[in-house]
Amino acid sequence: MKIYNTLTKQKEELKTIEPGKVRMYVCGPTVYNLIHIGNARPMIVFDTVRRYMEYKGLKVNYVSNFTDVDDKIIKKAIEEGVDASEISTRYIAECKKDMDAMNILPATTNPLATQEIGGMIEMISTLIDKGFAYAAADGTVYFRTRKFDGYGKLSHKNIDDLRGGNRELKVTGEEQKEDPLDFVLWKPKKDGEPYWESPWCDGRPGWHIECSVMSKKYLGDEIDIHAGGEDLVFPHHENEIAQSEAANGKPFARYWMHNAFLNIDGVKMSKSLGNFRTVRDVLAQYDPQVLRFFMLSAQYRSPLNFSAELMDAAANGYERIVNCAENLKNLIAAAGDGEMSSQENELLSQAKEYQTKFEAAMDDDFNTADAIAAIFELVKFINSNAAAMTGKASLQALYDELKVLTDICGLIIERKEEILDADIEALIAERQQARADKNFARADEIRDELLSRGIELKDTREGVQWKRI
Ligand code: AMP
Ligand code: ZN
Repeated sequence: MKIYNTLTKQKEELKTIEPGKVRMYVCGPTVYNLIHIGNARPMIVFDTVRRYMEYKGLKVNYVSNFTDVDDKIIKKAIEEGVDASEISTRYIAECKKDMDAMNILPATTNPLATQEIGGMIEMISTLIDKGFAYAAADGTVYFRTRKFDGYGKLSHKNIDDLRGGNRELKVTGEEQKEDPLDFVLWKPKKDGEPYWESPWCDGRPGWHIECSVMSKKYLGDEIDIHAGGEDLVFPHHENEIAQSEAANGKPFARYWMHNAFLNIDGVKMSKSLGNFRTVRDVLAQYDPQVLRFFMLSAQYRSPLNFSAELMDAAANGYERIVNCAENLKNLIAAAGDGEMSSQENELLSQAKEYQTKFEAAMDDDFNTADAIAAIFELVKFINSNAAAMTGKASLQALYDELKVLTDICGLIIERKEEILDADIEALIAERQQARADKNFARADEIRDELLSRGIELKDTREGVQWKRI
């Protein structure tokens, strides 16, 4: 399995630290708003990478954080007149709903920055002790960038060309820094902001330190894969490497994977530009599976442009697969038992070639575009040959192959039965009863089941409201 490594600018064979196990960290979203489909790209891409590695028999420890303390969260909290934690809790829950709808497997761990402050203080102290960081007079702690020899190795930048490249991270006066390149590890509180006590001042961490600390805590000093969108290469990941390697005295991540942008009209989709579409909004218009199919229709390092035409093409493509699966199911139901004929055997071994093709595409830096093309070839093969098969076993084997490949992509091929309003109401009534009986496990199960069928519940003072998402 080959992975393009941003660090070496080459495709490299995956060799894990522990045989059979993958330690993987994916930088997650800052939670102050509903996520947009640009944020959904790394989620879908790296979920698919994980699924493929699991299919290959690797055990993946998948850690993805939520940044739940940040200027933007605090700004939103002030606007709404609530605590920052209320904003982050709300949007973590909303993000998880979107991820669930997009069939993204839950991470092994989803650490929260605010729950890991102790570890951050510890790592910052180590960096100060080792001479890699210093506290300024007002209690701001900076990383001494030039002291770390490898700075620039991920983004392939020369440190002398950077000058004030980290200027946006300045929170107090630039004059406090020994060097304009130094970046913030800890900063003093401002009025009305959440803060934690530390040896340097009451304050909060800079953004980069959280990932170094959570990665170390949940995966160890050295990890296999660190991933995120390409905008994170510099400065975020560059700074993570500096912090982790300086503190731990060991290489940090072996493979650095970065997805290209999801664009709209050729421009990066982003909150700051205002050119975004939320996942929620897109899922009101399209099946989540269509969004997933669309995201995987390009290799993850190629830019992808969101457009109605491409989404319609994705809807057609996905429908072709679902149709094929449905026809196969019908044939299986009507087929007889009995020995597999030699002709059926021959057809099955031909069909296996598409699985081999699919694997070759995925082994080549997760080329999902070619992998999906292999699924289409299999669909075409099934559509032309299934009718000639009469035995249940051979038809089932074809179905299983299609299902294995689509599962790796996280695509559900069973046609979703439309749930009727009356059934929704009945389940809601059952959930209310379960709650009255304090059977919260059952109540949650019903809510999750409805969600998986595209129904979102909202508990209001006037009772339970529901809508199709
Ligand atoms: P943020 O909340 O901005 O830190 O983003 C969370 C994740 O989404 C990061 O891995 C970003 O690199 C990624 N991301 C944000 N916008 C886009 C985009 N337009 N295309 C692809 N990835 C993005
Ligand atoms: Zn990160």
